[in-house]
Amino acid sequence: MQKFDVVIVGAGAAGLFCAGVAGQLGLKVLVLDHSDKVAEKIRISGGGRCNFTNKDTTPANFLGENPHFCRSALARYTPRDFTELLQRHGVAFHEKHKGQLFCDNSAEDIIPMLLRECDKGGVKRWQPCSIKNIRF
Ligand SMILES: Cc1cc2nc3c(=O)[nH]c(=O)nc-3n(C[C@H](O)[C@H](O)[C@H](O)COP(=O)(O)OP(=O)(O)OC[C@H]3O[C@@H](n4cnc5c(N)ncnc54)[C@H](O)[C@@H]3O)c2cc1C
Repeated sequence: MQKFDVVIVGAGAAGLFCAGVAGQLGLKVLVLDHSDKVAEKIRISGGGRCNFTNKDTTPANFLGENPHFCRSALARYTPRDFTELLQRHGVAFHEKHKGQLFCDNSAEDIIPMLLRECDKGGVKRWQPCSIKNIRF
């Protein structure tokens, strides 16, 4: 039996990003997805150009029962951190309207970037692999 420190269900934007970060922190990470493709929603996001963040994002932009929930996350990882990641991977982007940032070329540029970050962290992916039950 193989053992992992972190098992992530879903190779979408959230899962791949978390996997890359966790892997690069030295954790042994596995990503599972019932599809044989990854990040299908990224492909269609932002009309094909992926509105990946807004440069003016602050906790005030979030709604929820706990308005403080996003404070620490946004303090530790800002929109600028993400645009620097894009620049390191050579993904060109532009501001469209009121701080909204989109890829110049295609939303598909984001996907190989996330996969390269996963590779850098030695992340394993098992696909297609459907999750029926989780036991702790
Ligand atoms: C048309 C459209 C346009 C959008 N445009 C934007 C945009 O421009 N900017 C933006 O920020 N957001 C946009 N969104 C929202 C976007 O989908 C999310 O921001 C982001 O892609 C969600 O990522 P995620 O990882 O949370 O979920 P998903 O991308 O849905 O990933 C979940 C993954 O889990 C897998 N999965 C689910 N259940 C199981 C299971 N039981 N077993 C195994 N695997 C499973 C799925 O196959 C999938 O790969 C858009 C959405 C749509 C539909």
